[in-house]
Amino acid sequence: MKGWILACSLSLMASSSFADTNPFSYVPKFEVPEIASGVGFLDKQREAQIGTKVYREVYRVMPVIQDPWLEDQLFSTFSQLLTQTQLGKPVGLLLINDRQINAFAVPGGLFALNAGLITHARNLDEVVGVMAHEVAHVSQRHYSRSQEAFKGQGLLALAGILVGALVATQGSGDAGTALMLGSQAAIMDKQLNYSRNQEREADRIGMQYMYALGYNPQSMADFFEVMHRETSRVSFLPDFWLTHPLTSQRMSEARLRANQLPKIHKPRNQEDFDILKLYTAVISQQASEQKLLSLAKQNNFAGQLALAAYYQKSGDYSKAQDTLNTVKLHNKQHNLISIIQTDIYLGQNHPDLALNTIQSIAKITPENRALNYKLAETYIRLNQPNEAQKIVQKFVQKNPQDVLGWELMYYAANEDKANPLQAVDVLRYRAEAQFWSGLEQEAVKSLLQAERLSKDNQSMSAKLKKRIREMQQEITAKI
Ligand SMILES: [Zn+2]
Repeated sequence: MKGWILACSLSLMASSSFADTNPFSYVPKFEVPEIASGVGFLDKQREAQIGTKVYREVYRVMPVIQDPWLEDQLFSTFSQLLTQTQLGKPVGLLLINDRQINAFAVPGGLFALNAGLITHARNLDEVVGVMAHEVAHVSQRHYSRSQEAFKGQGLLALAGILVGALVATQGSGDAGTALMLGSQAAIMDKQLNYSRNQEREADRIGMQYMYALGYNPQSMADFFEVMHRETSRVSFLPDFWLTHPLTSQRMSEARLRANQLPKIHKPRNQEDFDILKLYTAVISQQASEQKLLSLAKQNNFAGQLALAAYYQKSGDYSKAQDTLNTVKLHNKQHNLISIIQTDIYLGQNHPDLALNTIQSIAKITPENRALNYKLAETYIRLNQPNEAQKIVQKFVQKNPQDVLGWELMYYAANEDKANPLQAVDVLRYRAEAQFWSGLEQEAVKSLLQAERLSKDNQSMSAKLKKRIREMQQEITAKI
């Protein structure tokens, strides 16, 4: 049962400390007996605690992409998969700005995807295949079972290794590292038989989730082949390969298993995926202007939309506007059109025009976070902080880990000169944004400062004291 975690820790050592120590010298310590099902499961509360702790750690050390539209697209797909499991509310889904194909999962239901996974996939089903595989690792509690193998080490330390592995492998495309990774994989291949069993199980169960939801299980096998080709092309292994060893046997088994399931004929809108993919490429700085231009010239809607986003993100608002005007000629509805248009107006310092663009569409879809956060941002620019806070408050109440939401609350409070508690509000919203993005000590400091400022306000002072205690408990919790 050691494989999954161990694979991660191996890739960490592969790229960070291979030269100094022999990482394999400690592998034998993890010899594990076969684990019967139902033994040694972590309790759910502890898992959730680990999940949120790692969530903060990922935020602190990794380039997390904050783009509400993208986050919400991926989260809705991911939520569909979760309906197939007994897992409760997940800790979250984070998108990492990394061009390598990778994904990982942590107990408690924290999932992360690299932007590279989306930009390498050819359709949504291929992305869902990897998501489903990750969800299956968590639903089958492979992590918890691995925990049995690591008695004496905190699970949190292992989660740290997991995150560390991802950090260490970032930008690992150079030849030296590639060589090391290759040999690591070869060694893993020989040693990690349990890992293969877990991988097989995650493939099998992941495919069942896909099938139940009308996604094509063949796509999981297809994407394994994409990764395989990628490996021969770039001469280094995608990270996903290291944490989920992909042997040729596993690949052929996945294909056989997919062949056994009835064919899926559910038509899916390829254009929707193309938008997701190209927009992800823009947001993660993987898009080239040339490529987007050539797609746009072919009157490709997704290409034009991504090109408009590309120009807007690079601050070229007149080109962005010209391109968005061609997008509008298609007469198609898309939330990104409104979002990009609003951003162009904000960039050109026309918050009034921005408000005209976003207000009505955001108000008729109050549950849409991307549109409503854009509206809140516009209100802040128009010096209407209370309007902004009213919108964002609902989202952060529902999801207190929403870093972007807390940042908006903070910016709004900063503008709210009429508020007698302005300084306190600025500090406590900043504290939440700091806490959830992993700056734990800074967060406590902000709250202590807020608490000093609210000495005369008993209820606020009590509220702040309570939150300080909670944060300190979370920070020092032994997991
Ligand atoms: Zn796996």
